[in-house]
Amino acid sequence: MLVMSSFHAWRTGCFSVTQKSAVHFVPTMGALHDGHGALIQAARQAAGDDGHVVVSVYVNPTQFNDASDLSKYPRTQDADVDLARCCGADAVVFPTSEEMYPKGVPGRAEPSDYGALTRLWEAAHRPGHFDGVVAVVRALFEATNPVAAYFGEKDWQQLAVIRRLAALEFPELDVVPVPTVREEDGLAMSSRNVHLSSEDREGAKALYSALQSVVRSDGADEEAQKQGELLEQAGHRLDYFAVVDAETLEPKRMQGRPGRVLIASHWGGVRLIDNVALEG
Ligand code: AMP
Repeated sequence: MLVMSSFHAWRTGCFSVTQKSAVHFVPTMGALHDGHGALIQAARQAAGDDGHVVVSVYVNPTQFNDASDLSKYPRTQDADVDLARCCGADAVVFPTSEEMYPKGVPGRAEPSDYGALTRLWEAAHRPGHFDGVVAVVRALFEATNPVAAYFGEKDWQQLAVIRRLAALEFPELDVVPVPTVREEDGLAMSSRNVHLSSEDREGAKALYSALQSVVRSDGADEEAQKQGELLEQAGHRLDYFAVVDAETLEPKRMQGRPGRVLIASHWGGVRLIDNVALEG
């Protein structure tokens, strides 16, 4: 497996890329865990022996709306290389900010307006977040020119935003969703979970239990309301807990359309997000 510090080096130094074998791309911010591993394995499986699986590790400053979240974001380069190798990657690229933002890292990325997708939920609570995500993912797609890119359902709204970006600007690209990988007690794996104390780690699983209660009620708003109140009584500070249309992310669900239950909570000094599916 190749380990490169720029896309330029990867493109010029990589036989299979210059031979134009199909690139299957997994963008990440590092501190890799089994959730990222599932994306890499899905890419490997789809790529077969001929395709080229490339993982990028870049902590993108423009998608952080909180400076301390950025400064304490975990960085585990050697372990990331090991995990990517074990999951079947052909290359891991650690690009620099100079390469990702040749004109300099902007204080705020250029705005992207995809309607409700970039206005509600995460967008409302993290101003500028999706502008940064779109800016960096566009640059990553341009650098890698993939046939397929793999994104986790864990970040459901991000997945919807990337699907829109691809439909508008990269119509040939296949955006492949990968189901959320969870710890045994249901907590969605996340690079930020390392910041939870063991006590707070225990209380974090309540998020998934609350989501499941809403699924059992077939997405009843009253159940979401009740579960939200219970979480807040336990000390969670919710940004949102909502039953939405899985595609448009609008709060109103039409009969027969797939839904999604979305949640974001501040707990133990960490902002946790999660979501689950509702049948149509
Ligand atoms: P991140 O490094 O957190 O920016 O995530 C990189 C990619 O991994 C994104 O597409 C995430 O949605 C995905 N991802 C993160 N955590 C998980 C998880 N627990 N299960 C599946 N995918 C995940």
